[in-house]
Amino acid sequence: MPELPEVTTICRSLDRQLRGQVITGAASCGRLRVDVDSVSLQGFCAGKCISAVTRRAKYLLVVFTDRSGLILHLGMTGSFVITPDDGQARPYERAYFLLADGRRWRFCDIRCFGSLQLCPGDIQSCTHPALADLGLEPLTGDFNGSSLHRLSRNSRTPVKTWLMDQHNVVGVGNIYANEALFQAGINPATPVRRLGLQRCRRLAAAVKTILQAAIAAGGTTISDYRDVDGSEGHFRTALEVYGRAGEPCPRCGDSIERLLQGGRAAFFCPRCQPRR
Ligand SMILES: [Zn+2]
Repeated sequence: MPELPEVTTICRSLDRQLRGQVITGAASCGRLRVDVDSVSLQGFCAGKCISAVTRRAKYLLVVFTDRSGLILHLGMTGSFVITPDDGQARPYERAYFLLADGRRWRFCDIRCFGSLQLCPGDIQSCTHPALADLGLEPLTGDFNGSSLHRLSRNSRTPVKTWLMDQHNVVGVGNIYANEALFQAGINPATPVRRLGLQRCRRLAAAVKTILQAAIAAGGTTISDYRDVDGSEGHFRTALEVYGRAGEPCPRCGDSIERLLQGGRAAFFCPRCQPRR
């Protein structure tokens, strides 16, 4: 499932390819988890010019010059492909947009957990229901040791689960939560309110470092994720604990352990990340 680095990578590619383009037509097959019928989509988009593609949490915001926009989410397996329009749908193509320069921007999604929503108001004010109640953006200054400490005082939730809750912090999924906790030396099962300011600072810094490194590598491809041009992310080889149960810890050589936590796998080194 794409996390913040993958969505950021795709966002930058879309912005490069779509900025300044006018949409001349659009259609949807109505199979995405949240979808719009073709008539509404066509009526909303046709003739609009894309001024930018930005991101809030894991939502891609296609901003039109009249400030309205589209809110897209990749779900588990969503991807975008932009090619010259040959009038043919690609496999798993769930929606498409025709551009004035003759290209076809395709929203493909094998499992259909992706979403497509219209935002008639000012999209960047983030008042649309899909964008309300989202937590802190981890790469902004608002997310730091103090805010993490302040927001987590009343929660008994294990720190990894807390970090992955989009109401607290956005875009940190299972891969990067595991990696950040390893880097910060914090056991994933630690109740978050037990973290003092010192450990909160270490964790916030680790989250930022991991996400920035992953963005620089174009994200992490485990199975489906691809950039708009079809290329894979290269951060997988840099993962120190995720998916490495039984392998030696890169720091101390002890065996990496795997623990199921709320249905998601936690990977950690019991020596470098002791329970306390
Ligand atoms: Zn270790």
